[in-house]
Amino acid sequence: MPVPDKTPRVVIRPGAEKSLHRKHPWLFSGAIDKIKGNPSFGDTVIVQSSKGHDLAVGAYSPQSQIRVRIWSFNPEEPIGRLFFDNRIKRAVETRNQLALPSVTTALRLVNSENDGIPGLIVDRYDRWLVCQFLSAGVETWKNDIVSILSEIPDVNGIYERSDTESRKKEGMNQKTGSLSGKTPPETIVVDESGVRFHVDIINGHKTGFYIDQRENRKALGDFASGKRVLNCFSYTGGFNAWALKGLAQSVTNIDVSESALSLLKKNADLNGFGHDRYTVLCSDVFQTLRTMRDRNETFDMIVLDPPKFAHTSQQVVKAARGYKDINLLALKLLSRGGLLFTFSCSGHISSDLFQKILADAAVDSRRDVSIVRYLQQSEDHAVALNFPEGLYLKGLICKAY
Ligand code: SAH
Repeated sequence: MPVPDKTPRVVIRPGAEKSLHRKHPWLFSGAIDKIKGNPSFGDTVIVQSSKGHDLAVGAYSPQSQIRVRIWSFNPEEPIGRLFFDNRIKRAVETRNQLALPSVTTALRLVNSENDGIPGLIVDRYDRWLVCQFLSAGVETWKNDIVSILSEIPDVNGIYERSDTESRKKEGMNQKTGSLSGKTPPETIVVDESGVRFHVDIINGHKTGFYIDQRENRKALGDFASGKRVLNCFSYTGGFNAWALKGLAQSVTNIDVSESALSLLKKNADLNGFGHDRYTVLCSDVFQTLRTMRDRNETFDMIVLDPPKFAHTSQQVVKAARGYKDINLLALKLLSRGGLLFTFSCSGHISSDLFQKILADAAVDSRRDVSIVRYLQQSEDHAVALNFPEGLYLKGLICKAY
């Protein structure tokens, strides 16, 4: 007789196996029939089919709608330090294989579900790691994960930025602070293909910087020579710096955040870009674009990289209106033959829907507009095929005739 396995079993309803067979890493509470055993926050559980077959092993999250996040579709895989060590090494090796560390000192090393560790984000900024622990599972294994990360060569310290809304859904408080090693400096300087940036990992957005826009900033630089650029939602000036490096004639940056704009100026200084070539407007993009339209101002290139408009599927319709509004305004401000770099980082807005929104904006603007390039998040944010939700950042370069 085999020794009975004490691991709690989460038994799913008949028919709920489908998404597990496709290896989707989330099990929603509605798909659960019963629970054998008494798992608590972050505990390892085995997901079982209605017919009693073990299908996968995951982490239990009692408060979240995503009740189990799958660690492995091999239900016998032991979950412990070695498991996390293997997954983290695999993720880091992928970035090395892509030669990313030779291109930039700001890169994502671990991208959550897409690297097989649901809820764990690890970004590297030069010699510092910044982590987000966003699920009950990784919160429970935090000590092991931090200890594994401290073995990564040339790391001065590891800092936590688990101050996201999504932690609440998992029943966790927000947390920030040093996890290991030295206390980080006020800003960390990173180098992206020769353009340098100060990153404020303590107070900045997300883990400090929009690493996911790396390739798109560079693309802007390729087209910028001699152009008058309008950079909306500029944050700390990723697109500003690349436009200036690409010899833009002028860049106008708009953001509501004073602190982001002051770092934008520091970033321009760091690269030796003169104040005569760019300006900053601390104002609301929606209002400012209207004012510019009323004054018949024009630009040769416009960047629209707004914050997430749709946080839930219920917000999609309202968000779509917001995207249409700013894109319509931007198309009206573009000179003949001008380029629009437009983005959505709302996971709930699909690439198809985003393109349709742009098509609507184009009709209302009375311009002929074509897509000259499809853009997405940079390759250290690779999307696991079993997790299409991983593709959240989509962008288009549009040309307006
Ligand atoms: N393009 C940036 C990231 C943009 S993040 C980069 O590549 O680094 C979104 C930015 O929009 C934030 O800096 C936020 O302060 C700003 N923002 C949000 N709502 C705004 C509004 N209504 N008007 C102007 N800026 C806004």
